[in-house]
Amino acid sequence: MLTKIKSNLLSARIYFPEVILFDFIIFFILFIFIDNTYAILWLLIIQIILSLIMLGYIGKKRSLELDEIKRIINNIRKSEYTGSDEIHLSKNLSAIEEDIKKMFEKTKSDIEYLKRLERIRTEFLANVSHELRTPIFAIQGYIETLLNGAINDVKVNKYFLEKANTHTLNLNNLLNDLIDISMIESGEMKMSFRYFNINDYLQTIVNEFQPMAQEKNIELIYHPTHEKLQFFGDKNKLRQVMINLIQNAIKYTEKGKVEVLVEEEQKFGRIIVRDTGYGIPENDISRIFERFYRVDKARSRAVGGTGLGLAIVKHIVEAHGSKIEVKSKLDEGSEFSFRLKK
Ligand code: ADP
Repeated sequence: MLTKIKSNLLSARIYFPEVILFDFIIFFILFIFIDNTYAILWLLIIQIILSLIMLGYIGKKRSLELDEIKRIINNIRKSEYTGSDEIHLSKNLSAIEEDIKKMFEKTKSDIEYLKRLERIRTEFLANVSHELRTPIFAIQGYIETLLNGAINDVKVNKYFLEKANTHTLNLNNLLNDLIDISMIESGEMKMSFRYFNINDYLQTIVNEFQPMAQEKNIELIYHPTHEKLQFFGDKNKLRQVMINLIQNAIKYTEKGKVEVLVEEEQKFGRIIVRDTGYGIPENDISRIFERFYRVDKARSRAVGGTGLGLAIVKHIVEAHGSKIEVKSKLDEGSEFSFRLKK
């Protein structure tokens, strides 16, 4: 009994200063208005006893409430709740119940986010290892064949060396794309925005791809826009976007043409890369920006694809506050476009 009273009083100790101040004021009032010292003393004793009873009652309530909160926190720590609707506190704690529920939901979504990140990271590592293994095994195979005698066979030795060389180039492309992706995702990609003449810029990039298009007998056309048109963006990073889009358009087009054009809007301009290629199945369109996602793995590898190009494009375009859009019809062609500020 005595220990219970003691613990209740201890629970209410944060209110001691207020109660002592209150008792002191009462004592002061009694001292002014009552002449009789005995009466003052008795009233004061009664006042102190009442104060102790009140403190005991408050302390009891407080420790019950604290126990209730502790129980909920312990249950959360032991992961005993699956949803915030399972968390219940008594009526007088309803204000804190809402906060605990919000905290629970936030922690739950943070944990789910971290788990998702971890899953993505593991998947990414598995993909990287797989992608590295393919060209390395191929190079190893060609070199071993050469060492086992094929080096002296003039009919095949050059062919094997060329094959090994192609895989070395693919490996190099993959490593460059991986460096870009890791720079972007670690936030190390520094952007440098300024106005530049879009006409000269696109013309130069398109010219660089004329040999690649000619080799495949594809017409590569740039439709010039008006001479003075200026766009706002990071020229170097956008060059990477354009190279990727034009390269893909040529890579995934068997016959016909690839066009690059600019459509002017009021405050923006839209850069469009259009082809008459294989097109992309509707279900795959939303996934082609994922790292290592390819509609046709064999076809992508055969043309030296890494599966990372569009993931990089998406990041760079989004860093310009824009969004990459795709329209595509299977066996008819595709159109990739994004807006830039004028
Ligand atoms: P890759 O290195 O494989 O080209 P990307 O990230 O650049 O990787 O593209 C992802 C996939 O999207 C490609 O493998 C291809 O299947 C598809 N794709 C991209 N551009 C085109 C296009 N212009 N026409 C058809 N398919 C395309």
